[in-house]
Amino acid sequence: MRKELAMIENDTLSRVLYIDLSKKRYFVKDRKDLFEKYLGGTGVATQLLLEECPEGIDAFAKESPIIFAVGPLTGAFPLASKTCAMFKSPHTGDLGESHAGGRSAIAIRMAGYGAIVIKGKSELPIYLSISNGKVLFKNATTLWGMKDGSIAARVMRQSEGGEGLRAIFRIGQAGENMATFANVTTETYRHFGRLGLGAIFGSKMLKGIVISGKQMIEVTNKKEYRALYDQIYKAATESPLMQKYHDVGTAINIKSLNSAKALPVKNLQMSSTEDIGPVTGEEIAKHHLARRVACAHCPVACIHLAYLREAYDDDPYFYKTIPVCYDFELIYSLGTMIGITEPKALLKLIDIVEQVGVDAMSMGVILAWITEMFEKNMITKEDLNGISISWGNVEGYIELVRNISKPITVFLKACAHGVDYASKIYGGKEFAMQFGKNEMPGYHTGPAGYLGFLLGARHSHLDNGGYSIDQKELIKIDLSPEQVVNKLLDEEAIRQILSSIAVCFFARGIYELKLVSEAIKLLGFDLNENELHEIGKQIHLNKYKFKMREGFRIEKLEVPERIYETTDPTGKITKKFIKEGLDYAQNLIN
Ligand code: SF4
Repeated sequence: MRKELAMIENDTLSRVLYIDLSKKRYFVKDRKDLFEKYLGGTGVATQLLLEECPEGIDAFAKESPIIFAVGPLTGAFPLASKTCAMFKSPHTGDLGESHAGGRSAIAIRMAGYGAIVIKGKSELPIYLSISNGKVLFKNATTLWGMKDGSIAARVMRQSEGGEGLRAIFRIGQAGENMATFANVTTETYRHFGRLGLGAIFGSKMLKGIVISGKQMIEVTNKKEYRALYDQIYKAATESPLMQKYHDVGTAINIKSLNSAKALPVKNLQMSSTEDIGPVTGEEIAKHHLARRVACAHCPVACIHLAYLREAYDDDPYFYKTIPVCYDFELIYSLGTMIGITEPKALLKLIDIVEQVGVDAMSMGVILAWITEMFEKNMITKEDLNGISISWGNVEGYIELVRNISKPITVFLKACAHGVDYASKIYGGKEFAMQFGKNEMPGYHTGPAGYLGFLLGARHSHLDNGGYSIDQKELIKIDLSPEQVVNKLLDEEAIRQILSSIAVCFFARGIYELKLVSEAIKLLGFDLNENELHEIGKQIHLNKYKFKMREGFRIEKLEVPERIYETTDPTGKITKKFIKEGLDYAQNLIN
């Protein structure tokens, strides 16, 4: 039997703000029952999703909820920067989950809430202003339809007051048009990226949210808190791993994955390219990096901004400089995956993807699939609204991104639903690089990576780090498919704890369960490592409960043939290995 946990009295973490966009009403309920059981973040948000999302509902129905949740460490310890968003995904039809940093989490916590549930649908475009215990429903008609989502954010910023820490969430044109992989951007450079939260905002006519507050957070023992805070801060600033994130960022992986033949190139027709030189993390940092920024309460600052210098059309001697955020996944998806290895072209495309507001990985994979379909004469130029495309042709891709975000042709409308949906209608499934209907991340590392994408609750490389098992273990030794699946499931259970206390995954080497146990104790949660592990397993099961309830089945997963055809570092990606892994997981999970 689990012991009773007692949160600190008056801690506002357990307050859940419920908002109805149809009736323009809101209320607050204390949900200590959920926070004491599941800590916060992913754990609490999954339970709220199970409670609030009617079974089998259309993701775009007005009853379909949007849930945000933060955790006990938010605002109290370094790197506890993430907000977990939970929803029914319009992209996959089951669990939608996405995490973002910036100031999103601290603003929700300082506004006096641990979670927010948004339901209903507005008749006119609106944005929410949440501050001082009030929710205002503000007209956003003039912001709807803007070509660049960042301008809408700027208008909201200028119109809103709000005391204390403030965050702004907003969608772009793709969200308004309900492209099922549209994202929600916060603080310009952070995103609730994967699985289509932006489309749910769009379906509710919700352009954005401005939230602020200045609550205090209490701890159980100030002296111990100070000592532990300093210990974590020191680990974050002195760890070589975090130094790597700060110096070159995740883009450092481009060079090594390319050398290892693990980097998808031209829709994974290849796994490395000789042209990689200019777009390695080191070279972009050397020639284009302008500055680094950080999420709130993070001393690492891993967010890398390059400046794109563009001449105005009518005057070649006047330039605008545009800050563009880049990282490994962007260089892969909007670079090597579509044959772009020239930095300026890459930055231009990233900037357009930011403007329209879509998940970059999904967009890159869709562009790559379209290019191959066009090369193979399986679609025509008319399908593409007259746009010419070919590998590496950035101007064609820029046009295509805008057209998918606001589609006119039947083909492009299908592409706005993702590569799985479009390939089921137009063919080319064998090279449509989706796993669980989610477009692949940039890791062709081996079978553990692919089993990780297929089995992860979000079909993300971040669920269980399968790519790391490939690189650290499978490349040297043989593991059976069953051993790989056991490792993936165990890792995913542990990651649920990090997502529930809402800590950045880059700090997973610092926040081991022992440290988590010590940190949450100072916020009123008395749990040892084993108990945390058990809670993590339960949260993982709860996620699968939602997935299965909405129709997900391991036996229905489809694997694109392309992964078996392209060289990988382990040489172990075989149909037999993947099938045995999936069969084993099916017996465990179903
Ligand atoms: S390491 Fe990077 S993503 Fe993580 S909290 Fe810090 S700035 Fe944000």
